[in-house]
Amino acid sequence: MAIRDYIKNAGLKFNGQLRKRNATNGIVLHHAAAQHASPDKIHEWHLKRSWIGAGYNVYIRKDGSVWELRPLWAVGAHAQGANSDSVGVCAEGMYHPSDTQTFDKAMPKAQYDAIVRVVRDLLQEYPSIRWIKGHKEVPGSATVCPGDYFPLEEIIQAVQGHAVAEEVDCMKKGDRGSDVRRVQKLLMQLGYPLPKYGADGIFGDETLEAVNALKKSINLPQDGVVDIATMLAIVDAVGADKDRLERENVQLKDKLQSTEAELKKALGLGADAGKLVTELREKNEKFASFFKLLNQLLKDAGQ
Ligand SMILES: [Zn+2]
Repeated sequence: MAIRDYIKNAGLKFNGQLRKRNATNGIVLHHAAAQHASPDKIHEWHLKRSWIGAGYNVYIRKDGSVWELRPLWAVGAHAQGANSDSVGVCAEGMYHPSDTQTFDKAMPKAQYDAIVRVVRDLLQEYPSIRWIKGHKEVPGSATVCPGDYFPLEEIIQAVQGHAVAEEVDCMKKGDRGSDVRRVQKLLMQLGYPLPKYGADGIFGDETLEAVNALKKSINLPQDGVVDIATMLAIVDAVGADKDRLERENVQLKDKLQSTEAELKKALGLGADAGKLVTELREKNEKFASFFKLLNQLLKDAGQ
């Protein structure tokens, strides 16, 4: 079911013009920092801050009900620096320890399930979404929101099967997002047509077949996975500028090496940490080169 089919309109009157969001790259998760608050209450609080009204797009109560405060399509007021390109999702509750107010140490199951569902359905609604963050993880934010007792990691884990491109180092069936769309465009460019769905940003059976056909032609295992080897093969196939990519990788390696040294110094890490850092570095390198390849190829393919 699409989010539109179950989200309830809180019917709030905004005290000014709502602006349409031009890009939707992420989801920011919040808590209300209040154990009990109706959608109207949130609206009232935000009006008192002289905003045009409630700043969150979606509000999820402890009973699992899902409310649209600011319209889904509108620029929110919930996370400075991310308002223009993210959907703000807030959970009723005070999920952080406090000396001055009562707080919640655990999230009700109905609410947890509703949040996971909403995040999954938003990924479907906006295939361009590439990241999910807690408010406190938005660069430049100075907040504990959504709080230490908010199950942020569990929620992100639970939706990960529904792939956020940033969180995976390869693509497979079930993934969605702008990187899937790019790969689809490249497949078509290479002569593996997607007649039914085209570049829709959803890695379904049609894309899977095309990927396997490509992998067969280059003697790679037909496991349906777009990994680094597949991407490198695509680079060969479209004749991208490999020298330049290799040069850029060397620069990246240097940068990572100095970061590694700084990290070790800062954390006082011993020899045991070396392996971990090496693994991290390798993963980062693969990752960075992977997306660099995609961007490079995109320019060739035409967005
Ligand atoms: Zn917040």
